Amino acid sequence: MTKITCYGGVAQIGGNKILVEDREARVWLDMGQPFDYGSDFFADFLTARTRYGLRDHFALDLIPQIPGLYSAEALEPTKFLWKPPEFSAILITHVHSDHVNHLGYVDPAIPVHLGAGTRTILDSWETTSTFVNVKAHDFRTFRTGDTIRADGIEAEPIHVDHSAPAAYGYLVHTSEGTIAYTGDLRRHGPLRQLTDDFVERATKARPIALITEGSRVTPHDTRQNLTEADVKAGALEIVRGAGGKLSMVTFPGRDVDRIRTFFEVAKGAGRKFVVDMRTAHLLLTLKNDKRLKVPDIEKEDSLCAYSRQQQPKRWETELEKRLKDKVLTAEDIQKRPEDFVLQVEFPHLAELIDLEPPPGSPFIHSKSEAFDEEDISDRVLQNWLDRFRLVRHQLHASGHMSEDEIAEMVRTIRPKIVVPVHTEHPERFTRFSPHVVQPVREQAMTLTAGSTG
Ligand SMILES: [Zn+2]
Repeated sequence: MTKITCYGGVAQIGGNKILVEDREARVWLDMGQPFDYGSDFFADFLTARTRYGLRDHFALDLIPQIPGLYSAEALEPTKFLWKPPEFSAILITHVHSDHVNHLGYVDPAIPVHLGAGTRTILDSWETTSTFVNVKAHDFRTFRTGDTIRADGIEAEPIHVDHSAPAAYGYLVHTSEGTIAYTGDLRRHGPLRQLTDDFVERATKARPIALITEGSRVTPHDTRQNLTEADVKAGALEIVRGAGGKLSMVTFPGRDVDRIRTFFEVAKGAGRKFVVDMRTAHLLLTLKNDKRLKVPDIEKEDSLCAYSRQQQPKRWETELEKRLKDKVLTAEDIQKRPEDFVLQVEFPHLAELIDLEPPPGSPFIHSKSEAFDEEDISDRVLQNWLDRFRLVRHQLHASGHMSEDEIAEMVRTIRPKIVVPVHTEHPERFTRFSPHVVQPVREQAMTLTAGSTG
């Protein structure tokens, strides 16, 4: 008998935390934090007290009290007693916070399996940001083709295309049959073949269950449906037409495809791509991973880093030393704005005061559009753009399959049952399959080779 229990990702986008139990094996699929985690109780400077581990999280019922999962350190300030680990392994699909962030509370003795690229990116982000803190674990990295064994379960990571590099889905082979888990995936990125490989392998496995994401399974997917190639072509046109103006861009920090896209855009327009120090650190860290093919910031003439000239942290000082004359300041850019495509992230908008971009300069917003008109940071961003008379362009390729693509995937794989997660509209899955079983939060569903209950 095999059981699946969803502790997160139920009727919400992100926060995946799915337990698969089969005989001796108890394996987690992802350990994510939902995007709106704690938003009913916390806002602005009111946050959970980090020195108290899980104390505030338990008291407010934000995270389930699961014996044998959490670290002694996270439990020490709570009334919940630490117990030795009761789980075989955690299988991570990719580096995004809604799939990894709650590793920070997990007992370090539980093995955490993840792609080699994911591990590298986590390392870089733990150095350069304050909001990634998954802590030390028994990390076991894999490459495509490897098999993970954990207490009698075998799991095969299969690469997929997503807006983070080194993203995987899994085929988990249990005593009752195979469970296929998509993680997050798309088919319109530069590496769509990877997703096609996953669908093909999942189809061949004749799975008893397909646990699938559905971020864009919604009655109102009004967003742009662009491919990465569309983003590149659109950006190239904007930057080529920018004349003597400074071209600026903001994009999701871990999206290596997007970094490559804007590097190629800058090059194609005869400009230099100037990334912030965090992106520069990521590029240098990923340089050793030959499969990811990131541009080499130490060698490429068209790639530089931007120094904000504030009190640098240690890693920034080290990076500046290493990159030497590839580090530019606002003054350098202000002198010849027509030479650059500059990455400007939201927390660094005040740099515009020093950069003094010529009015009419393009600002490419290469991220998801704001969810609604009340989005505070979007209003603040717009105020900065208005203040400096910058022209906003929206160009983004989503990391997720459209509803039609999800439907096609489900029909191709033909699993015994479909379990929708990572979606706000799980009810819509009944349109593509007569065998949808809706997960109920923290309630186990039983899978057998013949039926489910
Ligand atoms: Zn996700």
